[in-house]
Amino acid sequence: QVVPTYLLRVRTCLRGGRASPACRIAERERGMNRKYRKTLIAGNWKMNKTPTQTKAFMTELKGLLPKGRWCDIALCVPAVCIPAAVRAMRETRVAIGAENCSAHTAGAYTGEIAADMLVDAGCKYVILGHSERRAMGETDADVNAKLHTALDAGLIPIVCCGETLAQRESGVTEEWITMQIKLALAGVPEEKIRRIVIAYEPIWAIGTGETATPEQAEEVCQHIRTIIRKRFGSKNARAMTILYGGSMNEKNAFELLAQPDIDGGLIGGASLVPEKFVRIIEDANQPVG
Ligand code: PEP
Repeated sequence: QVVPTYLLRVRTCLRGGRASPACRIAERERGMNRKYRKTLIAGNWKMNKTPTQTKAFMTELKGLLPKGRWCDIALCVPAVCIPAAVRAMRETRVAIGAENCSAHTAGAYTGEIAADMLVDAGCKYVILGHSERRAMGETDADVNAKLHTALDAGLIPIVCCGETLAQRESGVTEEWITMQIKLALAGVPEEKIRRIVIAYEPIWAIGTGETATPEQAEEVCQHIRTIIRKRFGSKNARAMTILYGGSMNEKNAFELLAQPDIDGGLIGGASLVPEKFVRIIEDANQPVG
């Protein structure tokens, strides 16, 4: 059963009958930022669910979706599940995305899927540079090439970046993220930057059940916005949607989403269960100042 948003807020924020100061400040700042950029709650199903299971999931999700439209919602699903997902969610506000695309537009690339094929199949988003794909050999140059292809096709790329535990412990997180973002966005013209979503996903938090603290996640997301500001200007930085991903779930989403530079979530495991995914959508409904 879906818990109403106001109850979630009460549950998370009230400390002895009063909202905690940190929560009040975060909510106020969050409200200010909401005016400038979109909130996005996106699921990443990875290699889970068949087309038949997709249909059943979407039917259940439709029955649980809140009426309010405080955020964009997307589900990035395995390629073979895209037609079932698009069909099921046609009349809804849930957009469908893919988990990868080719850097090439067409040709002799057996097993690959071109960005315009995804558009034609009904996709709006595509995840690029997920750490699980990088672990399979995808390079920063590949991510950049795919980004350009996806933008040209009209997809909204969700570009992932994130450090390993060893990098965090060595104190090189900021340098690593700066490098990943700069390489991923190389050659992107200023007028296209707002069509890109960035997801900060610390590798040590993906699928591990270990989440970055709201402060750790905010620190890196704020750093990403600074990189965007330096390269693309303040207005674009202010308008950029930056997500946090890494074991975000229905228990920790509210406080992560309350951070001023976290504009949504990229959610793996918890996006596979309709009730959990909906609870996270509810938690994105935070006060606008
Ligand atoms: C992901 O795969 O992008 C992800 C964040 O997974 P999880 O939520 O399961 O950690």
